[in-house]
Amino acid sequence: MTTTRLGLGRGSALRCRGWRQEGILRMLENTLANAERPEDLVVYGGVGKAARDWPSLHAIVAALRELGDEDTLIVQSGRPVAVFRTFSHAPRVLVANANLVPRAATPERFAELRDAGLTMHGQYTAGCWAYIGGQGIVQGTYETFGACARESFGGSLAGRIVLTAGLGGMGQAQAPAVSMNRGVALICDVDPAKIQRRAHYIDVVAADLDDAWRRCRAAAERREPLVVALVANAADVAEGLLDRGVLPDVATDQTSAHDLLGGYVPSGPDVAAAAELRTRDPGEYRRRATQTLARHVRALLHMQERGVVVFEYGNDLRRAALEAGVADAFAIPGFVPAYVRPSFAVGRGPFRWVCLSGEVTDRDLLDDTARRLFADDDRLQRWLAEAPARIPTEGLPARICWLGHGARARMALEINRLVRDGAVCAPVAITRDHLDAGSCCYPTRETEGMPDGSDEIADWPYLNAMLGVAGGADLVAIHQNAGIIGGSCSAGMTVICDGSALTDERIIRCFEADPGIGVVRHATAGVPQAIDYLARSGIRVPSVALPHRPEEGTE
Ligand code: NAD
Repeated sequence: MTTTRLGLGRGSALRCRGWRQEGILRMLENTLANAERPEDLVVYGGVGKAARDWPSLHAIVAALRELGDEDTLIVQSGRPVAVFRTFSHAPRVLVANANLVPRAATPERFAELRDAGLTMHGQYTAGCWAYIGGQGIVQGTYETFGACARESFGGSLAGRIVLTAGLGGMGQAQAPAVSMNRGVALICDVDPAKIQRRAHYIDVVAADLDDAWRRCRAAAERREPLVVALVANAADVAEGLLDRGVLPDVATDQTSAHDLLGGYVPSGPDVAAAAELRTRDPGEYRRRATQTLARHVRALLHMQERGVVVFEYGNDLRRAALEAGVADAFAIPGFVPAYVRPSFAVGRGPFRWVCLSGEVTDRDLLDDTARRLFADDDRLQRWLAEAPARIPTEGLPARICWLGHGARARMALEINRLVRDGAVCAPVAITRDHLDAGSCCYPTRETEGMPDGSDEIADWPYLNAMLGVAGGADLVAIHQNAGIIGGSCSAGMTVICDGSALTDERIIRCFEADPGIGVVRHATAGVPQAIDYLARSGIRVPSVALPHRPEEGTE
């Protein structure tokens, strides 16, 4: 079996026995077309794969081509293992990736099982074929900085300086997200190649820290957005600003701090020397990276004490710092409780559509449709005003649009109608990130600091996945994942809008329940916005499930 790359199906011709199977095949091809290391089937996140190995990938493709309208393909950690006869409205594909029993769910044991060829890491969207490259990452970061602006700066980052680090696969989104919120970003990365690769998002590469700060200050005084990149270590920059007695308004970080050997780079060596040290003496590398990380987090804590808005951006920085002896690392809040939870509470999250035709004109039409349907959603309108010009198309044209409970079903039904009417050139896939209202349990991120202490309760993503199956999504997946195995579990789902009446029915059920269980998860935990929203949502919840029930035994 060869490592021949897959093509990327476009246009209106079918290679499978129906559009639901063809749509999933194109999502798989698109995931690999956007992959960081397609030759290894690695899509993103260092290890997140689309299939276990090349024979498995070819077998998945063959199975999808053969799959009937009442068949369901079963994929176990990137390998197809069976096809069962189910129902026409049942999922066409069911996926489970990287799941281990809790006691075995350690990175070390996972690595052994993976090396024995028994499992693979699917990250969030790699293993369930919903990855859309850079098109998928900017809006969540834009929403986060927007919430930060509303919370601390009256709704805009104009005149504010955001200090951060990391211009990698995910971190690059910080550049457009800060400037779309009108702020000034000072972003450092140790790797000049990363800065070069993100040139389209960067206004200026500074010569040194003094130059960077001067440019940032000047832009902030003019209240103009600016992205300044600097080749430097995050710890050195944070300490350097403190030494100079100057402070940003906001500080965060998206270096790969979750991995102190493969990701986070210690202060001192340049990237080539760091790579050499990593291979030659991994123990020494880890020791130095740990020291740097501790300095980095201490500097962020000093900034916080001086009034800077500091938050962790989902990279496990605090856990690593705590293990490195920074006892108060968790004084820094995580970005979900700080900024994203109110969105999740009303089921608002990273909904996205992918134009299976490959035509940008289809996406333009769907952008217009969203603008028309949600004219009173200012955040969405601002996003859709800027995203088309700022976000390059990668693979199949796609748009991410944070929509809430109710809005998702409305948009999906409208998309299905446009497919039925032939207004778009081919069917459209609708999917989402696992980082969503009801689909993830990750106690140091998505479910950190739940008011009732239920951060580690992992029933919710399983319920979410089962609802996806019950509602007739085309693909439903359960993963154990994120930066570290054992740290989280989550669920994914995709619906192919083929224009049929049956798909209208599936959409109504899936997009009611998928964000709906997110609202319920937050309401039962006592998140006030979710409790308020629940009362007008039409979602039926027995009062016993809610934290302040009016009377025992009633509903
Ligand atoms: P990546 O590995 O692609 O990029 C990390 C970047 O950090 C690299 O460019 C590297 O050169 C740079 N870097 C490493 N150490 C540095 C240091 N000490 N100083 C300055 N630069 C340094 O990773 P990514 O995909 O961009 O993800 C970044 C982190 O964000 C990861 O930990 C990831 O798990 C986390 N993450 C967060 C979210 C979220 O929703 N907030 C989503 C996905 C990933």
